[in-house]
Amino acid sequence: MSDRYRYVLDEKKLPTAWYNVAADLPEPLPPYLGPDGEPVRPEQLAAIFPPALLEQEMSQDRFIDIPGPVIDLLRTYRPSALTRARLFEKALGLPDNIRIYYKYEGGNASGSHKANSAIPQAYYNKLAGIRKLTTETGAGQWGTALAMAGAQVGLEVDVYMVRVSFDQKPYRRILMETFGASVHASPSTRTQAGRSFLSASPETPGSLAMAISEAVEVALQDPGTNYALGSVLNHVCLHQTIIGQEAIGQMELAEDEPDVVIGCFGGGSNFAGLAFPYYHRRLQGLSKARLLAVEPLACPSLTCGEYRHDLGDASGMTPLLPMYTLGHDFVPAGIHAGGLRYHGGSPLVSALVKAGQVEAVAVPQSECFSSAVLFARAEALLPAPESSHAIAAAVREARAAAEAGQARTILFNLSGNGYLDLAAYDSWNQGRIRDYDYAARKVVEAPAGN
Ligand SMILES: *Cc1c(COP(=O)(O)O)cnc(C)c1O
Repeated sequence: MSDRYRYVLDEKKLPTAWYNVAADLPEPLPPYLGPDGEPVRPEQLAAIFPPALLEQEMSQDRFIDIPGPVIDLLRTYRPSALTRARLFEKALGLPDNIRIYYKYEGGNASGSHKANSAIPQAYYNKLAGIRKLTTETGAGQWGTALAMAGAQVGLEVDVYMVRVSFDQKPYRRILMETFGASVHASPSTRTQAGRSFLSASPETPGSLAMAISEAVEVALQDPGTNYALGSVLNHVCLHQTIIGQEAIGQMELAEDEPDVVIGCFGGGSNFAGLAFPYYHRRLQGLSKARLLAVEPLACPSLTCGEYRHDLGDASGMTPLLPMYTLGHDFVPAGIHAGGLRYHGGSPLVSALVKAGQVEAVAVPQSECFSSAVLFARAEALLPAPESSHAIAAAVREARAAAEAGQARTILFNLSGNGYLDLAAYDSWNQGRIRDYDYAARKVVEAPAGN
């Protein structure tokens, strides 16, 4: 067993191919469906996505090469560090045979793993002669990542930002604008979809599904404009698999092997990024790791949703995707983990949950904040509110193992930092955090903060 804190790979060790789990599913993914109920053909999506991304979306190849120019941009902040959380383990009072590791994706300018997909998406769109990208953003991390990548490859970026985040997180908007993007609170009056959401519900906090409708509508109207999605779709999960591939190499350096691999679950991309390469490793007989997706109790698509075809947005601009869903018109409570407020989730992750290959659990935000603050004080690193869900689950795993007197190696994805989410931490510190239980359809008083 290695005695180090951080396992840093050489930049030359960056993976050169993405791992495509679609090649290894127990059953093939059901097709995406159009409004007529017929499978969607790639040509129908060509109005909003470039050919290379459509090909990746449908590909059955197990490995897909990462283009050289994309590797060059990824190398500016990768490989990301993998750390043994020794100080956090100590704060939790864990015995030596329970170890916690985290892969830190918050170390780039966008503050989250989202840069890993923003860069290839911007690259392939530029290659296809596209001038502008539209997108949605929840908490603001995806918009920030795309604004950053757009600046790097030379694309304009137009961001529809969920109203509640736009109001709660002005610094995200400023960061996006500084990278050169235009940012609009969604629903907005700029689109047909936005105007109809507003007339139905003038005070709506907005949702990712509404913002997607707006961004897709704009992209459909202009041949020089495409749309980019920050999660959910197969090609996004694909791009994130560099996380898990690096982690496998770093856990080798640590001379350790995880028993459980954990990621928070919004649309599914950071979880997929860490977990899919471990799923592959399991198929190779090299790992027995359980794979655990963690979602908010206020928006529990995997644990309370239905597995069926549903729209990816709120107004029918997207195909129907086969996934666990709470219904495309579900507007989640305004929890601070804005990136986890999505009604559905990745078809690939959904298929693996349905097949019993991936486990899911829902946690209340008060438990997440209390774990995150404990983590922040021990490791001197402030987690994004989204990532705090993975921490809460890691703590549950560690405590369960300790109680059972078992050894356990836990690896979780620290998908982003919380330095632009200080208002959320302020709410927690001031005891203003509420829990929302979707299953019970009620607001629950949370324990006081600090
Ligand atoms: C967007 C975001 C998430 C949720 O999205 P996934 O696609 O489920 O990964 C989680 N963590 C952070 C930091 C995010 O920015």
